[in-house]
Amino acid sequence: MEKTMTVDVYAISGDFVTCSDCGKVMLLPHGADKCPACKKEGCLAWTDDSLREADIDSLLERHCNLHQEKDPQPEEYLSLAVLATEYIPYLVGKPQTARETLALLLDTGTLFEKYWRNTRCFRSENIYTPAINALLDKLDGKLKAGDAIPVEYQDCRSPGDFFRVVADDRPAKEEVSFSSDEEGNYYFNGRKVKVENSDGYAYRLLKTKIQTSYRRPVDFYFRFLARFGPYGTYGNAYYPSITDLICRCYLPETAK
Ligand SMILES: [Zn+2]
Repeated sequence: MEKTMTVDVYAISGDFVTCSDCGKVMLLPHGADKCPACKKEGCLAWTDDSLREADIDSLLERHCNLHQEKDPQPEEYLSLAVLATEYIPYLVGKPQTARETLALLLDTGTLFEKYWRNTRCFRSENIYTPAINALLDKLDGKLKAGDAIPVEYQDCRSPGDFFRVVADDRPAKEEVSFSSDEEGNYYFNGRKVKVENSDGYAYRLLKTKIQTSYRRPVDFYFRFLARFGPYGTYGNAYYPSITDLICRCYLPETAK
């Protein structure tokens, strides 16, 4: 006689699947692509091809031993790839701080790049663009509320330093905090630098102010201060040279 199967139940009805990584048999919400037990993605397979979609009653009819789990959050059974395309408002609502928003933005940027490589569709937009744009808006709001994100300041003093950073991801010498305010001024480690928007320059560094054509602090950040761009390989082409230059200008304590 067949041994009684134990099923971990995460939904009243849904996908009847087995995880090839941890071996758990589960009833998961429809469309699940991540195992809530071991957190692995891409390892779920139908437990029984004749019963792909099941509910509690159909499992009881088969005399399965049901083990009730608590309702999972979407991120527990859905990969970031699904969340970033089908659950954008939920995803964007999750991070609390500017740093958390930045981390999620960079993870989504990695998906953008992967999609680009896999499909060879080298367009500036793809299925992850709406999520990335929504996260950029959110991060901009956080910055303007004074919540800071890190700038990886390298302090390269020679071409050797410079190429080492470019070639092998040398860790930052120092982390500089960058934030903004409601008028769009910038703060480097808390030191205020006035910002004037001007279409004449991408950026122009004056003694106590920056003139830039970038209207939002988040755009200035990704253009000149961030090591990685929001769109995967669309990284910052100026890192670390202009990033260093800007930090040196406005961080008196490190400009020796
Ligand atoms: Zn698993």
